[in-house]
Amino acid sequence: MAAIRSKNTRPELLIRRGLHARGFRFRLHDRTLPGTPDIIFRRYRALIDVRGCFFHGHDCELFRLPRTRREFWKNKIATNRERDFETAAELEKIGWRVAIVWECAIRGSKKIEQETVIDSLSQWLSSDEKSFEIRGVDSCSPP
Ligand SMILES: [Zn+2]
Repeated sequence: MAAIRSKNTRPELLIRRGLHARGFRFRLHDRTLPGTPDIIFRRYRALIDVRGCFFHGHDCELFRLPRTRREFWKNKIATNRERDFETAAELEKIGWRVAIVWECAIRGSKKIEQETVIDSLSQWLSSDEKSFEIRGVDSCSPP
């Protein structure tokens, strides 16, 4: 689902490794599904999309608009975000559950303990909740 194809990023690998160790089996980068999702769990009719905070315009500390070519980046990121929303809606329409893991949950000063990320993803996979989102800790809430 990443608008800029950045496969096998470090956050993605950490998540894959963690869930695999807990017995979850999955496929990767399935081109037959809208947006070519990153990690696909057919058995759970669920998938995980690992999003880079810059290219997907996350409202967090990892996102900062570059000083040069601001208009270019603004437009590019806006287009990426639109595509993200559309793809997620399409996937939900055909019955997939979608979890979004933002890069800032795994990297940077607001990151969450890795075990906690894997725990909440395993719980979500085994639940019947439709959508799920994990991001770095907000500065206003306790860690
Ligand atoms: Zn972020």
